[in-house]
Amino acid sequence: MTREESIRSGLNDVRDGIVLACGQSGRSVDEITLIAVSKFMSVQDIETAFNAGQLHFGENYAQELLVKASSPQLAGKPIRWHFQGGLQSRKVRDIIPVASTIQSVDRDSVIDELARRTDPAAPVDVFLEVNTGGEAQKSGAAPANAERLCRRLIQIPGVRLKGLMTIPPFLEDPEASRPYFVALRRLRDELRARLGASGDVLAGLSMGMTSDYKVAIQEGATVVRVGTAIFGARTP
Ligand SMILES: *Cc1c(COP(=O)(O)O)cnc(C)c1O
Repeated sequence: MTREESIRSGLNDVRDGIVLACGQSGRSVDEITLIAVSKFMSVQDIETAFNAGQLHFGENYAQELLVKASSPQLAGKPIRWHFQGGLQSRKVRDIIPVASTIQSVDRDSVIDELARRTDPAAPVDVFLEVNTGGEAQKSGAAPANAERLCRRLIQIPGVRLKGLMTIPPFLEDPEASRPYFVALRRLRDELRARLGASGDVLAGLSMGMTSDYKVAIQEGATVVRVGTAIFGARTP
């Protein structure tokens, strides 16, 4: 297989997996957004996936995102860029003009910067990242802080709070992720009720990666972030 064939086949496999998981859980495929996580992958790889119909791409590093998004091969394309990496507040200003969605908002300093830098005329979609596993070294807000941070985000005119995001502790067995996905769904339901959120405010759940995206869909994911199953292993 050529590199292009392998990306197209990976993408098709993931699309099939999404159809399967939706069928198992009585959900519609239209409810799921697939983000192709393209960190460390080339502009050409992204173009291959785009030409196969993929519109959403996820990047973890501000500099890499900016270089790729402004490349001649990709700059004019209607790609939706998702920033999903560890977010330093000083990078927020650079990311906002490029990213349609920031998946990894998790602290006050980043929210301060969003309040300063976003434009109500061109709002940015945001997910609050929650550390459902309680791992000390992981990014993400503690579940106990989620309500306060969501209240802040909802008040910023240039921000649309779309939902919650999580990265569970990595374990080989995809079933091991299920309790964390359930926890995120319950937290979302509770926060929506407490904040009186309606429509698509705080309605989304961004959860599930290569190993566990089917389980995530069974538990209500609206966004899955898949890299390896589409592009193959990463060599940073
Ligand atoms: C790298 C990454 C992914 C994709 O991981 P795969 O296991 O390769 O699918 C998804 N989400 C985040 C936040 C990541 O950093």
